[in-house]
Amino acid sequence: MRIILLGPPGSGKGTQSSLVQKKYGFPKISTGDLLRDEVQKKTPLGKKAENFMNRGELVSDEIVIEMVKERIRKRDCQQGYVLDGFPRSLAQAKALQKIGPLTQELVIDFKMHEKILVDRLQARRICSRCGAIYNLLVHPPRKEEVCDVCGGRLGQRDDDKPEVIKERLRVYHQKTSKLIHYYQQRNVYHPIDGEGKILTVFHRICVIIDKELASSAKDEARR
Ligand code: AMP
Repeated sequence: MRIILLGPPGSGKGTQSSLVQKKYGFPKISTGDLLRDEVQKKTPLGKKAENFMNRGELVSDEIVIEMVKERIRKRDCQQGYVLDGFPRSLAQAKALQKIGPLTQELVIDFKMHEKILVDRLQARRICSRCGAIYNLLVHPPRKEEVCDVCGGRLGQRDDDKPEVIKERLRVYHQKTSKLIHYYQQRNVYHPIDGEGKILTVFHRICVIIDKELASSAKDEARR
């Protein structure tokens, strides 16, 4: 099953995709994480992507599509995967359609008020060692600036600064929200209320995934 988490920056896609991975075993593919890794390693791809990311703009479709294709080809993705932050443009969505023979597809779109997104992004902290995500407002670490999981230092992403947040939200509305119509037409689109506690939102997601899994099990049995 291919699960696509759609929704603006700060809507909780990263946190929720990790929970989906843990419960259902579908590997999480976050294009933001893959790109940040390239930037940190100072690879040629990372050097190309860095300026776009720091400005809150999208990295070119060509680069991101190639990166995702390569990741999806790996063996752990053969039964399915959960995508966080991809696709973000119509060109990416169409390219994804051509990749992989997966028959089931779910698109889960996180709906929420913009004010909450901005507050959340400004309060987000990431562990520089293991990537665990915190939020100073709703999910703070036990010890200030230290990761509960691995003891690593917590930091703020460069693009979680106010002026860049504004640009990321603008880009989302201009490009990514066009995907809603695309996936509605394919009958795979599921909007959910993205507000509330982490586990409350996760429960909403599980209801959708479990329903899809049950219906495909029925189809299998009929064959
Ligand atoms: P994220 O961690 O998903 O918020 O992504 C951080 C940044 O990485 C974005 O603001 C973009 O600059 C870049 N990025 C991540 N995913 C994509 C994508 N699918 N297409 C283009 N740029 C992306």
